Amino acid sequence: MDLNKVFENNEAWIKRQLETSKDYFEDLGKGQNPELLYIGCSDSRVTAEDLMGLGPGEVFVHRNIANMISGNDLNAMSVVEYAVIHLKVNHVVVCGHYGCGGVKAALQSKDLGLLNGWLRNIRDVYRIHKLELNSIECEERKYDRLVELNVKEQCVNLIKTAAVQKAYRDRGLKVHGWVFDVHTGKLIDLKINFEKYLHDIMEIYHLD
Ligand SMILES: [Zn+2]
Repeated sequence: MDLNKVFENNEAWIKRQLETSKDYFEDLGKGQNPELLYIGCSDSRVTAEDLMGLGPGEVFVHRNIANMISGNDLNAMSVVEYAVIHLKVNHVVVCGHYGCGGVKAALQSKDLGLLNGWLRNIRDVYRIHKLELNSIECEERKYDRLVELNVKEQCVNLIKTAAVQKAYRDRGLKVHGWVFDVHTGKLIDLKINFEKYLHDIMEIYHLD
């Protein structure tokens, strides 16, 4: 890859943006007010803004391997806190994707060094849903299903945070679970019943 091309692309992009509005960068420099926090995988094929057709200023993004939300991940927790409490986003999306290398690695028993601790979080999702997953005979389908269940469990992890609980009470913030199909480009809403999960886990995780 010729990195000079990146700077040429940037110049061409600036030109295109200025053609849409001559004040484009002046407006962009004034600050951000995104409606959406997107938590997705670092996979190079799953580019957050592109697949949603959104531009600069419209979405606050956090990406890591296999779109995980872990309570002791200071980075992810800071992003959630900042987006929900300070930027006051009204929607939080966890977006997984079929063909996720992180999820696939968790299905195998290979020692991957430093990554083991991270992948253990995905193995925990497998353990929670072991009965369902082990009943699926087709390996490909099992893999896809773990991608979906991982999204669901990360949504539950979001609901465990005080920031999300408070924003739900104060202004009806919603958590959504989506999957991006890298084979078709389609974004699929898993239609996670946010209220039901919230209700189910509140007995244990409620924070005032
Ligand atoms: Zn991935």
